[in-house]
Amino acid sequence: MEPIAFQSDFSPRYGELVDVAPNIRRIVANNPGPFTGPGTGTYIVGAGEVAVIDPGPMMPEHVDAMLKGLGDEHISHIIVTHTHTDHSPASRLLQQKTGAGIFAFGPHSEKDAGALEGGVDREFQPDFIVADGEMIEGQDWLLEAIHTPGHCSNHLCFAMKSADSLFCGDQLMAWATPVILPPDGSISEYIDSLERLAKRSESIYYPTHGLPIDQPQETIIAFIRHRLDRIDQVANALGGGLSTLSELREHIYHDIPSSLYAGAELSLLASLEYLEQQGKVDRGEAASEGRFWRLR
Ligand SMILES: [Zn+2]
Repeated sequence: MEPIAFQSDFSPRYGELVDVAPNIRRIVANNPGPFTGPGTGTYIVGAGEVAVIDPGPMMPEHVDAMLKGLGDEHISHIIVTHTHTDHSPASRLLQQKTGAGIFAFGPHSEKDAGALEGGVDREFQPDFIVADGEMIEGQDWLLEAIHTPGHCSNHLCFAMKSADSLFCGDQLMAWATPVILPPDGSISEYIDSLERLAKRSESIYYPTHGLPIDQPQETIIAFIRHRLDRIDQVANALGGGLSTLSELREHIYHDIPSSLYAGAELSLLASLEYLEQQGKVDRGEAASEGRFWRLR
């Protein structure tokens, strides 16, 4: 597989509100990790009357630092890209402190019963449901919501035309490809969402984690290619006689610690479901236990 040219040299100043572009500021929560990179980057849009995009994990010190940085500015909107625990939980705390309304596509999907616990925010409830194509307007800013399911079925990106920019949540990152875990995550939806973004013209993307992406179209093409390469790898392994999730995991993720097995197998399941939707593989009834996945 051809590697993606990742950029990971981002060392944020935790707890500090930093100017990113005119009318866009960012403050990074001190929650670095394998899925959050340097931490959750909360964006502040506007001046005086502002919107907060992705308030982050339930970390009171992050919310306090944000409010301190904003001084006497007023938060009019709390906007959430999706219901993962590193993005949405602090919206409740921020609302308690500011009274601002919470805007999002919806609560976390109920069909996501098989999710790895700990990663999803099941308590999240928006005050305002935002559909694909809807505009959210503040005092001196305007955001267009773009529904981009795949990483999470309720994932939204937000385009800010005046800044030629797009807040892309976890859809794209400069340092890693996002995890896609069934049943809520779907590779075919993810690729469709990337293809929708590929038709747009914004020239800079602000992911919630890590550095901005200043050549988003190239990144989108590289991410699609990376997914399809990984899917080919899975199909080739099936062609070579492997058929269970654990066999595929041993073959493709050979040196990961056992604590990551469940996540790796869910990730493989996402590729298998994609191949199944394409009519390329069949599965039996208990695919996680027996010899069930096979090429058609
Ligand atoms: Zn996420």
